[in-house]
Amino acid sequence: MKLVLATGNKGKVREIKALCEDHEVVPYSELIDEFEIIEDGDTFKENALIKARAVFKALNDEDVIVIADDSGISVDVLDGAPGIYSARYAGADANDKDNLYKLIEAIKEKGFDSSPAHYTAAIAIVTKDAEYSVHGWMYGTALTKAIGDGGFGYDPMFIPLGFDKTLGELDDEIKKKLSHRSKALALAKKIIKTL
Ligand code: IMP
Repeated sequence: MKLVLATGNKGKVREIKALCEDHEVVPYSELIDEFEIIEDGDTFKENALIKARAVFKALNDEDVIVIADDSGISVDVLDGAPGIYSARYAGADANDKDNLYKLIEAIKEKGFDSSPAHYTAAIAIVTKDAEYSVHGWMYGTALTKAIGDGGFGYDPMFIPLGFDKTLGELDDEIKKKLSHRSKALALAKKIIKTL
């Protein structure tokens, strides 16, 4: 069955496609016009379900599995911010770079050079019969500088636990093994196999 991704984010589409090589994976924007989805949940899980349900309904096709991911970074010295607000941390129209530099400044303003931090990914799966959700996490350190231009989003300021380079410097293959999204997708794939 076709897997439809409820995201237009190129970084996420690339990562999810790479992790689901044995399925036909299509971003929903290739099937219908992109539309605004109001993510007003209080948790990553709620927001992932909101996105997956909205895309499933809009596709109006019972023979698809819709997958949505909601993810973000939580920084300990900022009491878990930006968390579910990671995508719009520097404002509604902010891009990845604006968000990255806003987070760097926020940590500096607290008087720190770095902080323990973690990424969370919630993945929701919606079919005509059921809804599921799974999570994955990646722990590490958030720096107050950006190094490297690999990955996307906050990757240039994040060093995963056990490494001494940021995700902006490390190879995509390494991130594939470690990431919050990979871990959540490994669980999601187990569910998809049963559908
Ligand atoms: P979402 O589309 O609402 O899930 O937004 C997630 C936000 O967290 C975006 O700003 C991303 O840049 C950021 N984010 C999520 N996962 C990652 C990642 O693997 N690397 C870097 N930033 C990420």
